[in-house]
Amino acid sequence: LKESHTGNIAVYDDSNRKALIHEQIVLNEMDEALSKRQFHVYLQPKYNMATGEIIGAEALVRWVHPERGIISPGEFIPIFEHNGFIAQLDTYMFEETCRILDRWRSEGRQLIPVSVNLSRTGFYNPNLCKNLCSIAEKYSLPPALLEIEITETAYASDNNIIHERLQQLRDSGFHILMDDFGSGYSSLNMLKEAPIDEIKLDMRFLSAGDPCGRAKHILEMVIAMGNKIHIPVLAEGVETKSQVDLLKSYSCNLAQGFYYSRPLPVEEFEALLQGAQKNK
Ligand code: C2E
Ligand code: MG
Ligand code: MG
Ligand code: MG
Repeated sequence: LKESHTGNIAVYDDSNRKALIHEQIVLNEMDEALSKRQFHVYLQPKYNMATGEIIGAEALVRWVHPERGIISPGEFIPIFEHNGFIAQLDTYMFEETCRILDRWRSEGRQLIPVSVNLSRTGFYNPNLCKNLCSIAEKYSLPPALLEIEITETAYASDNNIIHERLQQLRDSGFHILMDDFGSGYSSLNMLKEAPIDEIKLDMRFLSAGDPCGRAKHILEMVIAMGNKIHIPVLAEGVETKSQVDLLKSYSCNLAQGFYYSRPLPVEEFEALLQGAQKNK
């Protein structure tokens, strides 16, 4: 027993140390990564399940590291949120997204709205709306083509300030998407006043494959509620055909997930979008 006890401590210490080393590397390299444009936009399509059409996309960051390969946001976003760098990265992702839309327009491609994730930190900047507006203007993009995703927990954590900023953004024409809805503590009450254009259902509503029992009824009622208050509901993390069928039977028509497509490098996304148009 004693042996395994000390053994456990050794393992714990080691993983702690690894986490610290990892954090140090991320912190040392982030500025350089930004200036060397190592943060890439990946796009995951959003579908109308009823028509099969691609109706938009979400921009998701990937750190394309020269030695370590492609690093997922889960490995660095929490660190950037902790030290405040995230606001800079989010602004960068927003501008990169604008550049993509601008290029699509100049190439005569179909324009679809693209959503960008914003962390809570950015909302404490009183100039957030002004900054995003001037970036959109720089590329002459109508704000309605740009959507802003904020997680439900970020919204609920400091309701007054964040509510005001979202209201400003929405008044300026940006669409606001409530991300990971249903994962926080105050989901339902918050909907009474939240200035939002779409609810993105947290993946966990679908996590155990096909929801059954209580989970199934809750899913049905949350979708019905969104429909009742006229806020479109998009299901995230859709992985199977039977989930698609279930969601459709509950009158949820919008979805995003591996069943349709993983997040893709921009070029691959463009090929997908072009193919989808040809098949129409
Ligand atoms: P999110 O905004 O909720 O994005 C959805 C996440 O679910 C993405 O993970 C996506 O790859 C994954 N996903 C999509 N469909 C499926 C599916 O069918 N099954 C499963 N298991 N997963 C699916 P990703 O790209 O690793 O991003 C994780 C989180 O990191 C995002 O969650 C978002 O909160 C954050 N994030 C990503 N990019 C940015 C960014 O530019 N700025 C900020 N502030 N946060 C970002
Ligand atoms: Mg999101
Ligand atoms: Mg989400
Ligand atoms: Mg999330």
